Amino acid sequence: MAKMADMTENKKVENVIIIGGGPAGYTAALYTARANLEPLVFEGFQWGGQLQNTTDVENYPGYPEGIMGPEMMAQFRAQAERFGTRFVSDDVDRVELTDGGIQKVFLGEEEHRAKTIILAMGAEPKRLGIPGEMELGGRGVSTCGVCDGAFFKDQPVIVIGGGDSAMEDSIFISKYASRLTILNRREEFRASKIMFDRAREQENIELKTPFVPEEFLAGEDGKLAKIRVRHAESGESEEIETGGAFVAIGHTPKSEIVVGQVDTDEDGYIVTEAGSTRTNRAGVLAVGDVVDHTYRQAVTAAGTGCMGALDAERYLRDSPPPVEAHWFPGGEPAEMTAGS
Ligand code: NAP
Repeated sequence: MAKMADMTENKKVENVIIIGGGPAGYTAALYTARANLEPLVFEGFQWGGQLQNTTDVENYPGYPEGIMGPEMMAQFRAQAERFGTRFVSDDVDRVELTDGGIQKVFLGEEEHRAKTIILAMGAEPKRLGIPGEMELGGRGVSTCGVCDGAFFKDQPVIVIGGGDSAMEDSIFISKYASRLTILNRREEFRASKIMFDRAREQENIELKTPFVPEEFLAGEDGKLAKIRVRHAESGESEEIETGGAFVAIGHTPKSEIVVGQVDTDEDGYIVTEAGSTRTNRAGVLAVGDVVDHTYRQAVTAAGTGCMGALDAERYLRDSPPPVEAHWFPGGEPAEMTAGS
């Protein structure tokens, strides 16, 4: 009998599996749980997404006093759990995605099946990989201007990068900083002309090129005090005093496990139909920063997580269940979950 139970357990077909434990994944879980779809979330070993590495979050509506990033993620998670979400705190090794069939998720050799899958793996900011960068994260070095810019009121700030992200961060942070220096490793800037011109229009923004950052240095209080930079041509080094440093050299979407299985763009972001979370494969939805080049905020990720849940619900309602959800080779009936 025990053997039989094991066999049926392996054949369980979930209504929805969500991959990702950030604002997008947890919001998708909350909505699908409240729709009685009993979601299973693979939240990753380091659940919480980028907010797990953030200190104060002051731009998420509903928290007038602000909240610490990890605490906010714990609350998102608890809210999804309250309605029956199940979590696996491990990283997915691979997936097998189909067009309207059963979607498969693998942890090593362990296989999980679902009728819909919501991809919410997020993105990560690119890092310089220089000394002091990780050690002084949250103590002067940041990768999110919109999140942390206001903490550097009336202080000198450095923004590293020459693309649109660096320009956007600089324009935002310059409202608070006493002086803002954009440090670029080349004379030419990759940013669009309009963004570059907007940044240049700000009186307290100056450009420093071509300089390569070498090290972030802490002061006696353990916070960032200086950055050592090297002239890209002469090789000469100098130290610049600064209150804050923002690394704005781009993001990498965490889409490795699905590249080649759903449409992605040249930067690896998953492509969805305009105004929806649908990918090019029926039953496969994508939400949050793994889709989003532009906004990348916790609140926008949560918003698309909600959209993904509603799209999953509609898909389950309107599509006939895949044949494999009823019968498997060998004629064994599969165990079905609520909503099937
Ligand atoms: P990006 O265009 O790839 O620019 C990255 C910048 O960082 C480049 O200047 C690059 O220098 C520099 N960089 C990369 N690695 C570096 C390193 N190790 N050390 C020093 N500098 C380094 O990235 P992005 O600015 O995030 O933009 C990505 C896409 O999103 C673009 O298509 C952009 O237009 C779009 N975007 C749009 C908006 C908007 O319209 N509001 C805002 C943000 C982003 P090199 O040029 O020398 O490689």
